[in-house]
Amino acid sequence: MECIFCKIVQNKMPADILYRDTDFAVFKDINPHAPIHYLIVPSEHITQPLKDQVDHKTIVVLGKVFSIAKKIAKILDVEENGWRLVQNNGRDAGQVIEHFHIHFLAGKKMRM
Ligand code: 5GP
Ligand code: ZN
Repeated sequence: MECIFCKIVQNKMPADILYRDTDFAVFKDINPHAPIHYLIVPSEHITQPLKDQVDHKTIVVLGKVFSIAKKIAKILDVEENGWRLVQNNGRDAGQVIEHFHIHFLAGKKMRM
C-alpha cells in the first residue's frame, strides 16, 4: 500500500498532527493555501465515497467531519473569525490524493 495518507494515519510517515480519534486524524497540509490549512482524514482508506450512490457509512463519515471541524476551529481559536471546508472531487477540482480527505482553511479573508 503506497497511500501517503494511510502512512501518516498509521504513523509510518511524519506529519504535524493536530487531532486524532479512533476514526480520524487531522494534520497540517504540507503545501498550505491559507495561514491555517489542515486535512481532516479518515483512518480508513476510503476512496471516492461521493462517486456512486451515497451510502449510510458515507453520511456518517461526513457528519463526523463537520463535528471534528467544529472541534478544531475551537482548538485553533478561529470560531470567531471563521473557517472553510473544501473537498476536491476529481481532476477538474484538482484532486491529487485518492484517500478521502477534507481541507480545513482559516486565518485569512477568503474569496470564492
Ligand atoms: P487534494 O487536491 O487531493 O484535495 O489535496 C491533497 C493535499 O494533500 C494537497 O493540498 C497537498 O498539499 C497535501 N499533501 C500531499 N502530500 C502530502 C504529504 O505528504 N503530507 C501532508 N501533510 N500533506 C500532503
Ligand atoms: Zn489511504
